[in-house]
Amino acid sequence: MEIKNQKKIKRNILLNPGPSTTTNTVKFAQVVPDICPREEEFGKLMKGLREDLVKIVHGDTEKYTSVLFCGSGTINIDVCINSLLPAEKKVLVVNNGAYSARAVEVCRYYGLPHIDLRFPVDKRPDLEKVEETLKTNPDIALVHTTHNETGTGILNPIRELGALAHKYGAVFTVDTTSTYAMRPIDIEKDNIDFCMASAQKGLTAFTGLSFVVGNRSIIEKSADYPKRSYYCNLFMQYDFFERTGEMHFTPPVQTIYATIQALSEYWAEGEEAKWARHTRVFNAIHDGLDELGFKDVIKREEQAGLVVSALYPDDPNWDFNKVHDYCYERGFTIYPGKISNANTFRLCALGAIDRQDIKDFFKVFKEALEFYGVNIPIRYN
Ligand SMILES: *Cc1c(COP(=O)(O)O)cnc(C)c1O
Repeated sequence: MEIKNQKKIKRNILLNPGPSTTTNTVKFAQVVPDICPREEEFGKLMKGLREDLVKIVHGDTEKYTSVLFCGSGTINIDVCINSLLPAEKKVLVVNNGAYSARAVEVCRYYGLPHIDLRFPVDKRPDLEKVEETLKTNPDIALVHTTHNETGTGILNPIRELGALAHKYGAVFTVDTTSTYAMRPIDIEKDNIDFCMASAQKGLTAFTGLSFVVGNRSIIEKSADYPKRSYYCNLFMQYDFFERTGEMHFTPPVQTIYATIQALSEYWAEGEEAKWARHTRVFNAIHDGLDELGFKDVIKREEQAGLVVSALYPDDPNWDFNKVHDYCYERGFTIYPGKISNANTFRLCALGAIDRQDIKDFFKVFKEALEFYGVNIPIRYN
């Protein structure tokens, strides 16, 4: 595709946990002739897009489907939890971080019976406790957790959790927003009934399009479950797609064009090569932090390979906001942490970036530390 004016767009390196750095081809894919999304031409685009979203997690498109929503990633958590719980049943949230805590809030806001099974944010959930909970609460019909807890970067054992959910007859929904299209997922082998993501994360497109990928027959069964939301009901959206090929309400048209371009770039790069690139970036982040003496929060072998949480140094001259601003002015965005009892910041390996971008970042980051008089190597008391 020929791109005009592309040099005018500054390339920012986003190290926040999404939205992520996009390619220029994806940016410009949004610039299309105006179209009404009720046209057949647009319906065809969405059909191909929905199938691709299932293929990314190696799903058989007969058994699995994807359902699109207009919203940021949190809409998927809302949709899955409020739509997939039969009457008189209970949700179990396996909660070791901020994003699973969000699912607990969804339960609370809808007034759904639920168990908030909490584990420390820097540890993987204890599978024995999960099993014990399932055994003693036979009314649990839905188990939910987060794959890569983006608040800390810990990788949760979803395959094992999914096996437990299924052993006790529950549906397993996983928030894969910060792994989908990055860390390889096999929906069937990983025992997932429903996973989810949005276009601005691993696919490196834009905000506005979110999607749930999951088991068609479970969605069809949910037709009779209580309807708890008008806009965010999974069966309603699925059924409308199946009957008309359209989204029930107005889709994010331009984001859909960008996502289709991002998908073609995803297939061109390939699942393995893309994961290898994210791993290169992740290792470069660790190398840079190690060199400056920063400590990370999660055991290295338990990290999902995409988000690094580092502890603030014990240095009176360290000021996250000042360092952030220094880097931001030079095209690099760093992000605060999401752990309530520790001061952390995050560096993420999500976008269309590679090792050299991280090397360039650490030059600027080190300069910022020097500029504000933060001792190097970093000190901890
Ligand atoms: C980014 C993210 C979300 C969605 O957050 P939004 O602010 O709604 O985009 C949900 N879950 C996880 C694990 C995430 O990383």
